[in-house]
Amino acid sequence: MSGQITKIFITHLHGDHFFGLPGLLCTISLQSSPDSNKPPVDIYGPLGLQNFIWRSMELSHSQLLFPYTVHELVPTRDQCPAEEFKEFSYLDGGEVSPQGAQGRILHLDPVENSYLLVEDEQLVLKAFRLFHRIPSFGFVLEEKPRTGKLNVQKLKDLGNYFDLFFFFLISFLMPKSMCSSWVVTPIFSKCKKMAFTDN
Ligand SMILES: [Zn+2]
Repeated sequence: MSGQITKIFITHLHGDHFFGLPGLLCTISLQSSPDSNKPPVDIYGPLGLQNFIWRSMELSHSQLLFPYTVHELVPTRDQCPAEEFKEFSYLDGGEVSPQGAQGRILHLDPVENSYLLVEDEQLVLKAFRLFHRIPSFGFVLEEKPRTGKLNVQKLKDLGNYFDLFFFFLISFLMPKSMCSSWVVTPIFSKCKKMAFTDN
């Protein structure tokens, strides 16, 4: 399952929200076969995340067998109490990414009041600012309007099937902390795609 992950989103750098990431990356690596054509796993999160991942891999002598790219969101000062705001730019030593392409440094688009992460003909993926004790981000995945009719009955039938599948998955296979959008979003999206007809 973890080998199918293509994107990871980290909301903020409090330990209970991201200390599991190095372990998850190592698990993905165990389930990967070296493949030079494999696209990188995109990891999105606040500024400082890339340094954490690189240091964790270096200190633990871990070598990941798949490419990954870390895209960092630059927070604004009004996202947390002033005394909690820290600049992490001094951590950036200009090192070259060990695997995968160098990620992007993403700044707030003041007009949209969000960060544009990905856009293609079907989807738009954005991050937006949240106020917390440290800078924090939410992520939204928007599906663009599409042609065809939604077959409601088929969606309901698929929903029952996938609910059951998901119940078994979270009951037996996944630790609770991992049962978030990583799993729900792809399943729901697949379900919805299958319920569309062209007439
Ligand atoms: Zn927190």
